[in-house]
Amino acid sequence: MTARRKLIAGNWKMNGLKSDGLALARGIADRLKAGPAPACDLLVCPPTTLVALVAEAVSGSGLAVGGQDCHAKAGGAHTGDTAAAALADLGCRHVIVGHSERRTDHAETDAVVKAKAEAALAAGLIAIVCIGETLAQRDEGRTIEVNRSQLLNSLPDGATPDNAVIAYEPVWAIGTGRVATPAQAQEVHAAIRAALAERLGSDAAGRMRILYGGSMKPDNALELLALPDVDGGLIGGASLKVADFWAIAESC
Ligand code: PEP
Repeated sequence: MTARRKLIAGNWKMNGLKSDGLALARGIADRLKAGPAPACDLLVCPPTTLVALVAEAVSGSGLAVGGQDCHAKAGGAHTGDTAAAALADLGCRHVIVGHSERRTDHAETDAVVKAKAEAALAAGLIAIVCIGETLAQRDEGRTIEVNRSQLLNSLPDGATPDNAVIAYEPVWAIGTGRVATPAQAQEVHAAIRAALAERLGSDAAGRMRILYGGSMKPDNALELLALPDVDGGLIGGASLKVADFWAIAESC
């Protein structure tokens, strides 16, 4: 069986000013430094306004920093957007692309997500590609079909287990307190891995990390992270508290 080191990634969304962002980042970095470190990689994705500050504050701690989005183009006339290379320049190693909130709020299609992921790879970043079905799609029995289609159409050309991570985030579970059951999560994760195998071959599919996201909390993390095809978590709300984020990491 392939050993995949788990990744616990915090998505802070549009939360935090300098003081609380710094306190949160330092709180996690301090725990990492004090040890023992949890058996997973740890990443925080602050809002763009805080990335430089957080990256500097946690430098050398082992806590990685990522962006929440990047533009598909390397640079140019795109007011308000962020280039992947600019995130890398600030110390980011990862960037989330295709989060359902971006797909909804900014009408991002799979093609846009794919282009953003390719821009991330070109800048040397690891792309965390988000996919997930809505409640209506699940109720219609289209969960596997929808995730498969989003995955295959959003996956960047040149994706490898070293430069891409998939995040399965059922839209109905994000920020709702409603979490996928272990059976629901494992079913979709296994289908995602099967689709990855078709596209990339079984060796790469077996090494690529697939995170679960959607109301993961300290009290449900253990059973989700124990599933054979769940290789970590993308955490929203619970990543805003050091103790909760750390407890989830310790569940690895
Ligand atoms: C997310 O925003 O990626 C997420 C999973 O949020 P939450 O943990 O709050 O559901």
